[in-house]
Amino acid sequence: MLPEEVLKTAAAEMLDYHGCGQSVMEMSHRSKEFDDIIKSAEALFRELMNIPDNYKVLFLQGGASTQFSAIPLNLMNGSGKADYVITGQWANKAAKEAARYGEVNVVASSKDKTFSYIPKLDKSTFSSDADYFYICMNNTIYGTKYHELPDTGNVPLVADVSSCFLSEPMDVTKFGVIYGGAQKNIAPAGLTVVIIREDLIGHARDITPVMLDYKTQADADSLYNTPPCYTIYICKLVLEWIKSLGGLEAMKVRNEAKAKVLYDFLDESQMFHGTVVKEDRSLMNVPFVTGSDELNAKFIKEATAAGFVNLKGHRTVGGMRASIYNAMPIEGVKALVEFMKKFEAENK
Ligand SMILES: *Cc1c(COP(=O)(O)O)cnc(C)c1O
Repeated sequence: MLPEEVLKTAAAEMLDYHGCGQSVMEMSHRSKEFDDIIKSAEALFRELMNIPDNYKVLFLQGGASTQFSAIPLNLMNGSGKADYVITGQWANKAAKEAARYGEVNVVASSKDKTFSYIPKLDKSTFSSDADYFYICMNNTIYGTKYHELPDTGNVPLVADVSSCFLSEPMDVTKFGVIYGGAQKNIAPAGLTVVIIREDLIGHARDITPVMLDYKTQADADSLYNTPPCYTIYICKLVLEWIKSLGGLEAMKVRNEAKAKVLYDFLDESQMFHGTVVKEDRSLMNVPFVTGSDELNAKFIKEATAAGFVNLKGHRTVGGMRASIYNAMPIEGVKALVEFMKKFEAENK
């Protein structure tokens, strides 16, 4: 979901953006108005995430999945090797794509227990000459998150943060590349944000499509071709909303309070149980089950009828999953827990 304030501002500015006589949907990406929008969005990203000057912020298209290819094409340029940790479907897809371009070393995987935990990493299994080390920071489908980063030394750490972008502060200096699709926490679909250390730009393989070469995009300030202007505009409004709430520290406090309401209930309920080990729980995606497929199905049906939508879990996990991204207010989580309590009492 997007913050209601943002949608209201977008609605009010729909026909005439700041008196220019056009909607943002209509304006040229070379116009002064849009130039202000994209520059403000970048400045807000830099301010909120405390992004150092030696990193570029790129506004790209193709979704997070396009980065599964762009990352090896741009970064697998030394030994041709990369380390991947397989913590779910998205990391697995990224690793499979990278294996088309070079040697992928799977450092660890949590597939043995349906990705319900983040594997403990043993540094001796890392490739010291890897061109990069890849993780999926928050595992959307399985509800796990890294609460501690792997120590990769001089090997650049690359993280897919699609489902936890801007949910809490991050130390950008620990990463070579941070990227994510915008559609889960930042904006409508159509925008992928890539935050990349400058020394990693400019070494793409010759076969790299021009649009996937980070240098093309960095040199053109993300305006090599027409960017998703309206999505970047909504992104800017969401960033302003986060800033108005107190930035990422405040967002973290808010997200922890929200997740606690649901996890506390899951820990005490006789019927509902979380599927993830406690120390690796995500603040954004909370999968849970009842222990019976019939009860799961009944719960989803009744919850949907009561207005709680998108609660069906991924088919590989079954059960339910509550996605409680930044814009979800705590009232929404409390209402879900009340509904779960009532369901439990009625279906003992
Ligand atoms: C949703 C998701 C993706 C896929 O994003 P697209 O923008 O649809 O390609 C990749 N990684 C993670 C962690 C996701 O949650």
